[in-house]
Amino acid sequence: MNLFKKDQNSDKKEPPSANPRRVSHPELQVINNNPKVSRPTAPQVQRPQQQNVMIPDVRYTVAVASGKGGVGKSTVAVNLAIALSLRGAKVGLMDADAYGPSIPMMMGIKQQPQTSPDKKLIPLIRHNIKMMSIGFLVPDEQAMIWRGPMLHSAIRQFLGDVNWGELDYLVIDLPPGTGDVPLSLTQSIPLTGAVIVTTPQDVALIDVRRGVAMFDRMGVPILGVIENMSYFVCPHCGERTDIFKADGGKKTSEKLGVSFLGQIPIDPEICTGGDLGVPIVASNPESPQSAAFRHAADLLVEQISNQGPQNELKII
Ligand code: ADP
Repeated sequence: MNLFKKDQNSDKKEPPSANPRRVSHPELQVINNNPKVSRPTAPQVQRPQQQNVMIPDVRYTVAVASGKGGVGKSTVAVNLAIALSLRGAKVGLMDADAYGPSIPMMMGIKQQPQTSPDKKLIPLIRHNIKMMSIGFLVPDEQAMIWRGPMLHSAIRQFLGDVNWGELDYLVIDLPPGTGDVPLSLTQSIPLTGAVIVTTPQDVALIDVRRGVAMFDRMGVPILGVIENMSYFVCPHCGERTDIFKADGGKKTSEKLGVSFLGQIPIDPEICTGGDLGVPIVASNPESPQSAAFRHAADLLVEQISNQGPQNELKII
């Protein structure tokens, strides 16, 4: 399927397979056959050197994942992207949440992307971030059933057929859970690493373990866990209340041996910022809520700088 109505030489290059279960994601087989892989910490993960041919001018790719929907993954992705850009980095944001793309709304984008003369999609720019969304492929109200190969094709086109240009960071908002999109990404580009967003309750934390296990099996380093909706600060008296549970994400990351990138409060301004298309880090970068996102971005950059050879380049 060619979603951008363009010749797909890249797809033709993929070797055909006699086994339809292995056509799009041969790794699935590997995962099932190899259940006992222990978890190295992010900087120690050994990956085969993969060439970044699809987006050669993008220095670091950071996938933002969560075990379930509604934990604030997209909210964290947009605010992290803006926080990275406030550090002076060139940042792109790819909305790969095929089942609930919400980044255009959160970034305040209503128009569709244009196509360049060389038939590439031109990302839309808002809050200094280059943005593309899988939501542009389907009308808002139309539910889409994505089959694995369709998703794989869409993800590859979102990488190779978009004029991302030179970027320091491409932040990728994944669909919740484990599935086709992270597999397609890891087949297409060398992911610098993944950030897992969770809320502090035990039920959400179980999914963090699943997410960490999935990325481990794919050889993708975990750059850290962010605990969202961690606490509420009363705007009247300033008292802090841990609504769900104190420090669940922090303790889980310690147990799993992954970095903890911090806690984000639950706050009406964070929610309204997303609804209005002006994320809080853009509208009020000096607020305490934004400080939490900016701190997480600082720790994320630190994690990336601790990694292997690709990070010998200057970190912005
Ligand atoms: P996900 O991507 O995990 O499905 P979203 O980022 O779409 O979650 O967030 C779900 C809802 O929760 C949105 O309305 C969003 O504005 C709100 N939300 C997310 N994080 C916070 C927060 N820290 N404080 C208040 N509301 C939040």
